[in-house]
Amino acid sequence: MSGRLPLTFRERIRISMKIHADFECGNIRFLREEGQDIYLQNEMRGTARTSQYYWAFCVEGAAGRTLTFHLNEEWVGPLGAAVSHDLIDWHWTESRDDGGTFTYTFGENEDRVYFAHDLVYTPTRLFTVLGELGIRTETFCLTNKGREVPCFRIGEGKRNMVLASRHHSCESSGSYVLEGMIREYLSAPIPDTSLLVVPMVDYDGVCEGEQGKGRAPYDHNRDYVTDCIYPETGAIMAYAKDRKIPYAFDFHAPSHCVGRSNRVFVVRKFPALTERFDTFGRLLEKYSGGDAMGYDMAYDVAPNSGWNKDETPTFSTFFNVRPECELALTLEVTHFGREEDRVTAEKLLGTGRAFCRAVAQFMQGK
Ligand SMILES: [Zn+2]
Repeated sequence: MSGRLPLTFRERIRISMKIHADFECGNIRFLREEGQDIYLQNEMRGTARTSQYYWAFCVEGAAGRTLTFHLNEEWVGPLGAAVSHDLIDWHWTESRDDGGTFTYTFGENEDRVYFAHDLVYTPTRLFTVLGELGIRTETFCLTNKGREVPCFRIGEGKRNMVLASRHHSCESSGSYVLEGMIREYLSAPIPDTSLLVVPMVDYDGVCEGEQGKGRAPYDHNRDYVTDCIYPETGAIMAYAKDRKIPYAFDFHAPSHCVGRSNRVFVVRKFPALTERFDTFGRLLEKYSGGDAMGYDMAYDVAPNSGWNKDETPTFSTFFNVRPECELALTLEVTHFGREEDRVTAEKLLGTGRAFCRAVAQFMQGK
């Protein structure tokens, strides 16, 4: 005889329901439960910032219940929470209670549901997609924690192009755009061009659900310096050492959902390059909209303006200052979009397709 009293119904519910971040890209701290209200806090792992938007958690054992989730800050976007059952396909709840709260009614068979700040792009999705496309990955380098950083090469030719994403690990929109660009490239290859793709530069941060932006002492996209501290950036610079690389593109997502962050925009560097950014911007405008997110180059960030004054070398500036450079840039792709131009996984993929078409036409003019 254990001597324990039978559990009450409420205690059984509490024991059977589990809220956790024990999965790739997971990020949450459970604070407390009060009836149907769940209080949560996102973790600042991987950033020196005291406030950053990313969160992702899993709820198990809540089938049939309605729960209201309260984040510690207003980090629920205008489309509500992103929802997934397999960490590959994500959609929005389409509603929120306020900027920090959303409510979800679990179906009778919804035993495990993932919720996140945005349409998370996990390593699982990456490897699933690459497998479907018949693309074989290689190990680019080992991370500081010993993980094998994936990369892949596609295309053949004399012109080299480097594609990257997730210099900031939480910025999943960039990964969808990268996937869209790869899909478009495979259906309409750019002649005489070979691509090296490093799809998840801060691979440790991606796997562990870290914020990544503003990582201490500085993040991966501020590490294009001689004494670099991250193996991934060192490997990209080493790859570039013995090659001419006229084209290099890096896909990011901006901040939560303020002002320009609801749009797609290019971060322009070096006033002397304005003409080539204008030329490319007109092409990207031409192919954007419809199945892709809208793009209006009037919302590009001008060089040496606002926060774009940092002279620390980034991926795009590293390639821009090389004499063979024809076009290198950072594309920032919103997590949510605007009411008339809402983000879906399909539209982010379409944005990548549009970007590839614009690059291909830009190269035709060279
Ligand atoms: Zn970024």
